[in-house]
Amino acid sequence: MQGPGRSVSRCRVCGSGELARVLSLGKQPSAHSLLDDPTDDAPEFPLVLVFCRSCSHVQLDRVVPREHLVTEYPFLSSASDPVVDHFSEFAATLRDLTTAGDTVVDIGSNDGTLLGQLPGSRTRVGVEPATVPAEVARDRYDFDQVTEPFGSTTAAAVRDEYGRADVVTANFVLSEVDGLEGFAAGVADLLAPDGRCFVETKHLLDVVQRTQFDTFYHLNRSYWSLRSLRRLLSEAGLEVVDGERSRFNGRSIRVEIQHADGPRTPTRRVDELLELEAAFGLDSLETYERFATAVERKQRALHDLVVGLNEEGATVVGYGAPAKATVLLNACGIGADAVEFVTDTTPIKQGKYVPGVDVPIRPPDEFDPEAVDYALLLAWNYREEILEKESRFRRTGGRFVVPAPHVDVV
Ligand code: ZN
Repeated sequence: MQGPGRSVSRCRVCGSGELARVLSLGKQPSAHSLLDDPTDDAPEFPLVLVFCRSCSHVQLDRVVPREHLVTEYPFLSSASDPVVDHFSEFAATLRDLTTAGDTVVDIGSNDGTLLGQLPGSRTRVGVEPATVPAEVARDRYDFDQVTEPFGSTTAAAVRDEYGRADVVTANFVLSEVDGLEGFAAGVADLLAPDGRCFVETKHLLDVVQRTQFDTFYHLNRSYWSLRSLRRLLSEAGLEVVDGERSRFNGRSIRVEIQHADGPRTPTRRVDELLELEAAFGLDSLETYERFATAVERKQRALHDLVVGLNEEGATVVGYGAPAKATVLLNACGIGADAVEFVTDTTPIKQGKYVPGVDVPIRPPDEFDPEAVDYALLLAWNYREEILEKESRFRRTGGRFVVPAPHVDVV
């Protein structure tokens, strides 16, 4: 079924109507709506990626209302060790950058894994519209929470109540925002004149270079390059003063932002990152045409490999059920006949089914290293951590089928 939603006729960043279609993954179920029962119908929505010929921003061509995509937000930061480690490190940085009495606002604060690690001497405010993680944060920590989506109205309300923020953080939320102009204007309104804003997001460069097509899902409406992020921010009177790539979450960028007339001088790393993006051709339509061909090739290769292993009598399970697992299994046509089950550490996912392919999700203790021949590494963004954790599986002859950066068996 086509389902609800509307097409986007103008670029979310610059407003241009010159959007070129670069990739379609056909109709896909919502990657976040896990099924209670495999016979339930999973509504499907077109998943089409477009490139703005004017500002190069890469985005989905459609907005499906959030309530059709997410029944209960199935992601808790604290359920993933690499996420906890990553935010512990970042919390230490923020502790050093702030002093007692400073105000820190975390947009998309989830279950408080970042904000909860900052000292109570800072005024800490979490902005988290998703009910489940907000409740977990309330149980665990004593910082204040705002349960509205972030935009200009929420920003003004937070500013009125807590004053301007010395630090604003937004980790892995910007890709989900549809009203980008309001988001950027809200940050500008909330941030103190000498304040710092940190935005972390997946980097489009890696998505394209590593053919990470399974990072495309309906809730992720934008795929960011520094170039398009800078364009968005400049319209709101903000500027990027630093930026770095990290290996976190299948590779990401973290940028530091201030008011355009703020006290810090942009580092050389900003220019270097922009040059890297330009050298790779992120501003060229041809790059995405080549990318689309690579995606098709990878989908075929993964399908043939996993289905082939199953046909040879091997036991294959999936490892990790993040949103990208739904996309990968559906886009490659790998279903419950080829993959027995998917294991995941998040309790609220266990007992449910991956929509569209009806593969059951089970707790990690059902992953028996002796009984499984191949594990399809669906949570490939934590490849190193998982390979280390499951060393016994590999020692006893088990192998991981790895979809990224290249299809491989390790
Ligand atoms: Zn644009």
